Amino acid sequence: MDCCAPSSKVETAKTNCPSCGEKGKSVPLITLKSLLTASSLETIEPENTYSFCPTSSCNTVYFSDTHTQTFEEDALKVPVFQKNSSLQVPVCYCFDWTRDRLIQSVNDNQRPIEHIKNHVQSNRCGCEVNNPQGACCLGNVTAYLRSLN
Ligand SMILES: [Zn+2]
Repeated sequence: MDCCAPSSKVETAKTNCPSCGEKGKSVPLITLKSLLTASSLETIEPENTYSFCPTSSCNTVYFSDTHTQTFEEDALKVPVFQKNSSLQVPVCYCFDWTRDRLIQSVNDNQRPIEHIKNHVQSNRCGCEVNNPQGACCLGNVTAYLRSLN
């Protein structure tokens, strides 16, 4: 399975974040199962569809399509790139490229994008269980590197 392929899931009714109103992106249930802390995981309703809110100014990370449940960053075992501006936060979760490591790498004239792409193409990435957005990080890495210039 190619974890970086666009999701073919049909969009369900409430795909907008109940907190900020912006459109969320539906994530596979396995992403929540993998990344939520135990006490939060114990509250999920597997029949619901959950979406990820990418808005950086919004505290909600996941919300259910019923709008009855939301999870914030403290419900996850990992910091969330979109919600947390710390240099220690991963941009690429699978291969542990933090903002800090990306900056170092660019300063050393390395090519982190190519490095990550090689692993992705070799089918080594596991974005759906590592990355809170439940999808490939390459877009975020590209945008972040561009923002450094
Ligand atoms: Zn939101």
